[in-house]
Amino acid sequence: MKQLRVPGPTPCPPSVLQALGQQMIDHRGPQFAQLFNHVTQRLKECFLTQGDVFLLTASGTGGMETAIVNTLSPGDKVLAITNGFFGERFAQIAQTYGVEVTRLDFPWGEGADPGEVKAALSRDPAIKAVLLVHNESSTGLTNPLAQLSRVVKEYDKLFLVDAISSLGSLELRTDDWGIDVVVTASQKAWMTPPGLAMVSFSPGAWKAYQQARLPRYYWDLGKAKKFQEKGQTPWTPAVTAIFGLAQALELMAQEGLANIWERHQRLGRQAREGVKSLGFNLFIQEVYASNTVTAVSTPPNLDVKKLVRLLREELGIVLAGGQGKLDGKMFRIGHLGWVNEGDIDEVLSGLKQALPRVGYA
Ligand SMILES: *Cc1c(COP(=O)(O)O)cnc(C)c1O
Repeated sequence: MKQLRVPGPTPCPPSVLQALGQQMIDHRGPQFAQLFNHVTQRLKECFLTQGDVFLLTASGTGGMETAIVNTLSPGDKVLAITNGFFGERFAQIAQTYGVEVTRLDFPWGEGADPGEVKAALSRDPAIKAVLLVHNESSTGLTNPLAQLSRVVKEYDKLFLVDAISSLGSLELRTDDWGIDVVVTASQKAWMTPPGLAMVSFSPGAWKAYQQARLPRYYWDLGKAKKFQEKGQTPWTPAVTAIFGLAQALELMAQEGLANIWERHQRLGRQAREGVKSLGFNLFIQEVYASNTVTAVSTPPNLDVKKLVRLLREELGIVLAGGQGKLDGKMFRIGHLGWVNEGDIDEVLSGLKQALPRVGYA
């Protein structure tokens, strides 16, 4: 395969692959403690937080569940902002645990409007927390997080954010923006195999934790905090993925956060200009365009599944289709993590070759 360009898992650089081949170590021993403390410190630098960051053995969804069960109680009210597949998931997790979910739905492909969020919060003072997906990988949209957090903080609500496909690629300032819980996962911007979720937890989140009565065991961050103080995790961690992450964080530190953000801006622009020049429309309004995932609307007469299959089987280019109700209506190009201009060029020239063969002029 030449180009794995889905919004996670993303390709791993060679030095990360090499780190993954290391022999096992004792996860209760000094060597692990040193590695774990170092990785946790580096993650705090990427989250831009002085608060806690926890490394959990889970996919991103486990991190979302962690955010809910550590801050809320049955019957608590939350405002779930949704404009895509993952926003739905966040609301569903809360609902599953008996949290009372008030939904604020925006059309898929439209950004969450801070004014409407403000109106929803003033309508119901009993709302305790707000759930938001920063970057909707399903629609290729980035919500205006900085503006939204100003509203959420003005009303003094807990703010739980799925930044699974944004953090580490797009600007996100956990402390400056007052976000209480930020969730991401290793297989997205972090150039590391799946297996780790990373979750930040603010002092305000700890205050909520003291009151929170939802059942929690594996996801209990109180336990994680106690073990973190001795350089350990409560349960056996995905040691191999942590080896990889340590190396990936090294590469990220070398490049620098601001440069990483800038590179993703460039690549996002390149992907959008490229698909537009092939005659396509973006699925979203361009002001909300994500710089990690580009979702391309396809006309009804274009067989997207056939296109995606041809790219995969004959050209070694792996793109994503649409999720949920968007199945068959779009394809998506992931451009996060270990990716450069040449990769996007290859994807675009692959599309140019493949399109006439599926009857698209
Ligand atoms: C990938 C992704 C998830 C789900 O993560 P899993 O690791 O598959 O559990 C959730 N939210 C967003 C925005 C994502 O991109």
